[in-house]
Amino acid sequence: MWFCVRGRRKNRKQSRLPSRARGLFDCSCVLQIEEEMSGIQEALKTIRNSIPKSVRLVAVSKTKPASAVLAAYDAGQRVFGENYVQELVDKAPVLPKDIQWHFIGHLQSNKAKSIVEIPNLQCVESVDREKVADALQKACEKANRPLLDVMIQVNTSGEDTKSGCDPSHAENLVRHVLDTCPALRVKGLMTIGSPNPSPPNRDFELLRTLRNQCQVTFAGRVCDLELSMGMSHDFVLAIENGSTNVRVGSSIFGNRVYTESSNTSSSDSDHFSSNVPAN
Ligand SMILES: *Cc1c(COP(=O)(O)O)cnc(C)c1O
Repeated sequence: MWFCVRGRRKNRKQSRLPSRARGLFDCSCVLQIEEEMSGIQEALKTIRNSIPKSVRLVAVSKTKPASAVLAAYDAGQRVFGENYVQELVDKAPVLPKDIQWHFIGHLQSNKAKSIVEIPNLQCVESVDREKVADALQKACEKANRPLLDVMIQVNTSGEDTKSGCDPSHAENLVRHVLDTCPALRVKGLMTIGSPNPSPPNRDFELLRTLRNQCQVTFAGRVCDLELSMGMSHDFVLAIENGSTNVRVGSSIFGNRVYTESSNTSSSDSDHFSSNVPAN
């Protein structure tokens, strides 16, 4: 929210200040940045206090600068999520190496190599087809890196705009990774779900059912499979439905502002930005 405030304030200042007052303006910019950083830390603390310790909080920093990531890092956050390959490739090298990066966006198989080369990429949550799993496997072999955690992304809401495999295909995709991708470790299932869930949330329930089925089908071959579900607007409900991994962006970092130059190197569109005004 403070990002909106900042945007407005800045414009007003810019139009009011004569150029000789530039020095003053720069000074107030510094103050605004400090305000933003403490805003991020406050928001993070509030969210952390509202989720159980057993649930992993992935702080989704897409479109936000490295300084914002650092503010959260300084407040103890270590797991961050990114949506766009180029953004992750740019940010990871300039940020602390003990950050655990989760890639949560649509992945084109020809981009697998660029993210796998990031040593502290911990998990790709968005594996939604065999081709992507194969590309990650191949890239991991080449990069000679430790096992890469992956989650199978399932399109539980059936919306055309959402990525993810068809629910009926999830088990096959898990089997494919287990049988043919030894450099990958199946960590769980991930979903986005419909933007306006009201309890009971069928998308979350569906993902949990699929997880339970996989746990039986692949008993002994998988560990306790996780559920990655829940974002800013629905993480509380997701946790009630058994989520072990919530991906929270705007509630921590403020609303995202998209400019024409901001990302995206791939053909991804951010279908979440359109969810925000809908609420
Ligand atoms: C952007 C994004 C999020 C975070 O969304 P917020 O509503 O900002 O919390 C979570 N998951 C995925 C896959 C995303 O792309």
